[in-house]
Parts: sequence; C-alpha cells; structure tokens
Amino acid sequence: MGARTPASAPAAPPRLGPGMRQTRQRHQIWAALQRLGGHCTAETITAELAREKASVPRSTVYRTLDALSASGALRAIRLPAGPVYYEMSVEDHEHAVCQVCAGITHIDRQLVRGVEKDLLARHGFRTSRIDVIVLGVCQACAAAPDGLPAPAVAAVSPVRG
Ligand SMILES: [Zn+2]
Ligand SMILES: [Zn+2]
Repeated sequence: MGARTPASAPAAPPRLGPGMRQTRQRHQIWAALQRLGGHCTAETITAELAREKASVPRSTVYRTLDALSASGALRAIRLPAGPVYYEMSVEDHEHAVCQVCAGITHIDRQLVRGVEKDLLARHGFRTSRIDVIVLGVCQACAAAPDGLPAPAVAAVSPVRG
C-alpha cells in the first residue's frame, strides 16, 4: 500500500491505498478515533460507532484500521498479548502498558532519544525508528488489594503525560 504520510500529518482524513472505497465509513471511523482520542482498540471504535448509530461492520473497522496504519495515519501499538491499540500519528511518545488493567502510560520521547544518541555515539548506529513498549504494573493496580485490576475504565481512557 504505497503512500507514506509524514508522522506530523494533521488529523485530517488521510489518503488510503487502493482498494479502500468505503469513503463514508472510513470517515465515520476516523471521526470516532478523533472523538475517542488517545489509544483505541477495534472494539472500542466499533462500540463508539454503534453508539453513534453508524452501522459499520466490524470487518470494515478492522480493514480500515489496517489501511490507516499502513498509510502512516495511525500508529498501531502491538502488545505481546491482547488487542492492538491505535492512535493518530501526531504524538511523539512511547508506551508503558499495565499488565493488570491494560492501561497505557506515555513515556517522554526525550528519554528514548537518549538511546538514539548513545547508539550513534558509541556504535555509529543510525536510528531510523524506535518502538518501545514497557510492560509492568501501573500505580493504581500496584495500590489495589491482591492484584485486582484498577477500575476497568483505565483500560480505555487515554492516560495523559
Ligand atoms: Zn500513545
Ligand atoms: Zn493498571
């Protein structure tokens, strides 16, 4: 799927590769992503569309998310297990994921840039892309009794910072 979109592209409906003809549904999905903000799964997007009474089949949601990721308009965050999270490719950050509630915390990109600088200085290695996922337990889950997950809302709410 050829077209590459710069990571700093504005949050306007993106161009997709060939084969994406469901323009209206694509726009509904894009609008749902904007409303939800932060990190969404195909499930949360499908639920949001259903709430809006937009009848977009789940298969179309999956296909569109794949195409948007391939075009660079969306960033797909793939974890070792569980659903793929999607977010618009406008933010510059990495992710720490709670293994109890699946909540996502942002890692300041400046910290990751240190890795880039070190690789270049010590090994002459030129970084083209960094994808960091840190797994662990979030503050809320760590404080919860007996490893119970923090309230489920944490799993779908974007975590700021
Ligand atoms: Zn993110
Ligand atoms: Zn947690």
